Amino acid sequence: MVSTHCSDEKEHEFDLFVIGAGSGGVRAARMAAATGAKVAVAEERYLGGTCVNVGCVPKKLFVYASHFAEDFESSQGFGWTLGEPVHDWPTLRDNKTREIERLNSIYQNLLDNAGVCIIEGRAQVMNAGTVRVGETEYSCKRILLAMGGWPSIPDIPGKEHVIDSNQVFYLENLPENPVVVGGGYIGVEFAGIFNGLGCNTRLLYRGPKLLKKFDHDLGEHVTKEMAAKGIEIQLNTEIEEIRSLGEGQYELQLNNGEMLHCDCILYATGRSPLLEEAGANTLGLDLTTNGKIAVNDSFETSVPGIYALGDIIDSPELTPVAIAEAMVFVDRVYKGSGRTLDYSNIPTAVFCQPSIGTVGLTEHEARQRFSSVQTFRSEFRALKNTLGGSSERTFMKLVVDAETDKVLGVHMVGPDAGEITQGMGIALKAGARKRDFDDTIGIHPTSAEEFVTMRDPDN
Ligand code: NDP
Repeated sequence: MVSTHCSDEKEHEFDLFVIGAGSGGVRAARMAAATGAKVAVAEERYLGGTCVNVGCVPKKLFVYASHFAEDFESSQGFGWTLGEPVHDWPTLRDNKTREIERLNSIYQNLLDNAGVCIIEGRAQVMNAGTVRVGETEYSCKRILLAMGGWPSIPDIPGKEHVIDSNQVFYLENLPENPVVVGGGYIGVEFAGIFNGLGCNTRLLYRGPKLLKKFDHDLGEHVTKEMAAKGIEIQLNTEIEEIRSLGEGQYELQLNNGEMLHCDCILYATGRSPLLEEAGANTLGLDLTTNGKIAVNDSFETSVPGIYALGDIIDSPELTPVAIAEAMVFVDRVYKGSGRTLDYSNIPTAVFCQPSIGTVGLTEHEARQRFSSVQTFRSEFRALKNTLGGSSERTFMKLVVDAETDKVLGVHMVGPDAGEITQGMGIALKAGARKRDFDDTIGIHPTSAEEFVTMRDPDN
């Protein structure tokens, strides 16, 4: 059934028809409507998309929940005495869901207040000027494909027994001994969440090093720290077959001959763009070599009048990137601006435990592009851990072009890495040099001050 939230439900002609009410789609719809365009957005699932419903927001709430275990432990060194902490999964899950529902209604208000017509249902692009939702056809000057991506799970025998990163947010019970597959963002984040909540957690990754897209020191440091917190990490390992043993128990046949038993298998093996939903084939949209929709600087696809942005195009799958793309789309298409989006130096955080914050080039990328690269590293036990008792160590690294003194990359593993790295992102955007870092007075005592006190290069 298709229902609409428009002032005039008989309205069938729009300047812009957005498909997908995620971060990018909603921002584009609101901003375009603010220029006076008549805008509709079609959504078949939930307002706010992946980030709000089954991504960034609920994940971060789970990270907070899981980190309490360590905080309870540390508190004793500061004089606190606690009883045995007990965690109740349904309370966390349901409180999280209530918060997400609150955010869904905020998104609805934002769209309503902007005068955007919300059409609930699955949209199908018929041609460059027509979209169909259910039995209704809408004609539109422009169409924006912002339907994002969906978890992608390899075809292995027993695949039907695994859960993906959407389902993990709604588990009936917290597993006792989950297995997480994948060494990227979601894999390490959920291994940390399960472990912190008290599950006997195992992380399997097919390659030799976790987080291979990041600076190599970050992956190594995080692997060491995650293992120290009790996560069983198995590298160079793949599941060949999954067999159900009944009563929620599974047997996993690994490629190294080993057999594992577990009660939950979470696959975090990347996400695929929703190309079929976008009608990529039938419309004949050009794709990039990574199998995503190709667009120009205005986010227009190879079919004039059809635009695309967010996780469905070949840019980093990050909410703030989709939002930035939406702003550039509106500026160029509705405000006549010529500005383009600068994809360099995008800061990002991985909310594993300890967390990662990173911006700019990895050491490897820098050495490929610059002939004279210097690195500065610092590793230390944060002040809180002296009384808290945790052995966790913080790691920080600067990658510098020795010829120009320009800082090319800032990388960190430790508490609040994302918070610290956001400011570093501004410094890199502004073209900061190492001497600017050196000339900056530190804030004492913080971990962040290490970034302005690293004097001796590694090489
Ligand atoms: P990632 O691309 O980060 O990681 C996918 C992992 O799965 C990699 O380790 C990859 O291995 C592995 N993998 C891929 N295919 C297979 C396979 N067939 N068998 C076994 N392993 C496989 O994807 P995620 O799913 O973790 O997250 C999707 C995206 O969502 C991220 O890239 C990120 O852009 C975004 N995201 C951002 C977050 C944040 O900002 N904090 C949090 C979560 C997600 P290999 O490296 O060998 O290819």
